[in-house]
Amino acid sequence: MAVPGKRQISGNDKIFSINKSAQDMASKVGPENVVNATIGALLDDKGTLMVMPSIIDIYKSLSPVEISEYAPIAGVPSFLEYVKSAIFGSYIPEGYIEAVATPGGTGAIRNTIQNYSSMDDAVLTTDWFWGPYRTISDELGRKIDTFTMFDKENNLNIASFESKVNYLLKRQSHLVVLFNAPAHNPTGFTPSHQEWDALTHVLKKEARNFEKKVTLFIDAAYIDFAGDPDSSRSFFSKFSNLPENIMVIVAFSMSKGYTLYGMRSGAMICITPNKTIAQEFKTVNMYSNRATWSNGTRPAMMILSKIFEDNQLSKKVAAERAEFKNTLEKRAAVFMDYAEKFNLEMCPYKAGFFMTIPCHNAEAVGNQLQKASIFIVPIGKGLRFAVSAVSEEKCKIVPEKIATAINTVTKGNG
Ligand code: PLP
Repeated sequence: MAVPGKRQISGNDKIFSINKSAQDMASKVGPENVVNATIGALLDDKGTLMVMPSIIDIYKSLSPVEISEYAPIAGVPSFLEYVKSAIFGSYIPEGYIEAVATPGGTGAIRNTIQNYSSMDDAVLTTDWFWGPYRTISDELGRKIDTFTMFDKENNLNIASFESKVNYLLKRQSHLVVLFNAPAHNPTGFTPSHQEWDALTHVLKKEARNFEKKVTLFIDAAYIDFAGDPDSSRSFFSKFSNLPENIMVIVAFSMSKGYTLYGMRSGAMICITPNKTIAQEFKTVNMYSNRATWSNGTRPAMMILSKIFEDNQLSKKVAAERAEFKNTLEKRAAVFMDYAEKFNLEMCPYKAGFFMTIPCHNAEAVGNQLQKASIFIVPIGKGLRFAVSAVSEEKCKIVPEKIATAINTVTKGNG
């Protein structure tokens, strides 16, 4: 009955189906004998979702009306104010900054593509990217184009970025660049200050014709797990005083940093030197909110407001988050250490929930690993390992097994 339109709809989600196989195996041989590295959430060593207790305490303290009332279409005013501090910390860029609440970072991606690119346009992202970028673009009648993310030294490939921006701006008047940083999914990459400078320099150079409109979308879904909470935000200062035809939109998400994955809360925040463009941002994105999900999840917005209104509470949340981050960092350090021991090639991981092991024939390597009860997601040119979901003990074992599986498949013995 459904009208497919131009969309490429496939019924089965690869990540969920591998996760299901991992769970089936765990019920047969015991979870302690299975590595399930599919899930993009922070799990404890037993595989249970880690939830910050302070956040749930705040939720429980909300009044029935604070929980149940509709939120305004743009979001609860206090949330819209505090979300700027939540995302930028002490590095609030100069310019006009407006925020609109969205259901998670996903909602911000959707509204950005809808409002800042035209039908049939290509949206540009890195060649390693989060699958839903394509799903959302496809749903909205846009295409995804990619640039090569890393050069031979595993630095950000600015030359490839420049050539794709140049190519696309010759063909379309609007360009949305989706850039997931810091702590990129799936590689864990975070650009250096020089790389951020080079990236903005390319945009200024390639968009010197003011008829061209560029939106740099910074998907900061993992910022709270990207190292030091203060310095990991310092790159935001670089977005002060960009030309008027370059707007930055930052996606804020409460899924990971506040462990409210299922609450569907986030925001899109613009940075522009032009007041009218900022007002337009507010108007068009409120319109899109109304036309899709209407308004966001009020209790989540109240939780953020309560945290930022109360210094003690802010400190408590920060301390709990630091502990969670510490767990993740310890696992990642162990994995990297063993990867080096077993000469396992990795994309340049700096922080975050995922690591990527580039390899040929990733599907076959993934299947080979499943024989050893290791469940990891093949993503085209490599394997995505969710370090967020795997205990430190298991992180010690996996690199050698992956190296062996790659060898076996390469030699044709899989
Ligand atoms: N961007 C990336 C790269 C992600 O991995 C995710 C979640 O997995 C999101 C955005 C959005 O998450 P949410 O919509 O839950 O905020």
